[in-house]
Amino acid sequence: MNILVTGGAGYIGSHTVRLLEKTGGKVVVYDNLVTGHRNAVKSSIFVEGDIFDSTLLADTIRRYDISSVVHFAAYSLVGVSMIKPQDYYHNNVVGTLNLLDVMLANGVNKLVFSSTAAVYGEPETSPITENVLKNPTNVYGRTKLIMENAMADYSRSYGLKYIALRYFNACGADAAGDIGEDHQPETHLIPLILKACLGKTDTLKIFGDDYPTKDGTCVRDYIHVNDLGQAHVLALKALYNGHESDVYNLGNGSGFTVKEIIEAAEAVTGLTAPKEIAPRRAGDPAVLVASSDKIRQDLGWQSEYTDIKNIIDTACHWHKKNPDGFAG
Ligand code: UDP
Repeated sequence: MNILVTGGAGYIGSHTVRLLEKTGGKVVVYDNLVTGHRNAVKSSIFVEGDIFDSTLLADTIRRYDISSVVHFAAYSLVGVSMIKPQDYYHNNVVGTLNLLDVMLANGVNKLVFSSTAAVYGEPETSPITENVLKNPTNVYGRTKLIMENAMADYSRSYGLKYIALRYFNACGADAAGDIGEDHQPETHLIPLILKACLGKTDTLKIFGDDYPTKDGTCVRDYIHVNDLGQAHVLALKALYNGHESDVYNLGNGSGFTVKEIIEAAEAVTGLTAPKEIAPRRAGDPAVLVASSDKIRQDLGWQSEYTDIKNIIDTACHWHKKNPDGFAG
């Protein structure tokens, strides 16, 4: 297995790379370092490149005899996607179509694709199963749904074999404490709470407390990044074993409100985060909780981290060890 990992210097990418390497596969990280970090790539081959650079992509595929791609390289922020839709359609749709062109032109037909719970929008049932209506409430979710549909078409017409993984809320960090979540600027809830607890940021804003949930704040399903990463390993192995193209949810199956996550993080750190209620963030659905039964049954996936405090503790370990992230 010679695997090209686009976006392998990013948060989920770097954790997955570590797990892929443990399987003995040769991993080549391909990342333009716009949001990724060079020192998140520890031992893999690294190529600094953009998914729009067809020549470099094709050269890399040929040079390292690549037979599959795990594609993380994308923009992934709900809030920003509502303000800068052009960036999102360009990078996530046009960029991924370009990657698919280069793959198919060079005989690579296996792809594990990062999708998202944001494809669902405001589903009527919870936990969400893969087959419910998809009606994204934000641009980010729309870009990922467009690509899921395109891949289904490419699968029928050109023999592409893909598995799309719809992530719920990735969080936590590898227990080693040397890779973790470091976005500039940071917009995700758990790192922002931890930074607020540790005095590294200003007051935490709770985006809306008038949602139809038990305490008025949004409910999400938080899954440890290594559990997510392990699903990529299983998906890739399944594709090598002839598995047909498919789509899977990836979450823990339990929902926590924003306020509950803050309480859990304060309990883990023993510190209090300064916080205030702020207006709703555009594009946020009230509740997103996954059913991951399908990937459990089909691919034998299971989560190692089920306790939210343990998950937050791994993130806390990373933040304490690396107060300035990768820059430190
Ligand atoms: N959130 C919040 N304050 C913040 C960041 C996030 O209240 O500073 C909320 C956000 O509205 C959502 C949840 O926390 O309901 C998780 O947001 P995040 O950006 O971490 O992930 P997303 O669900 O957008 O993928």
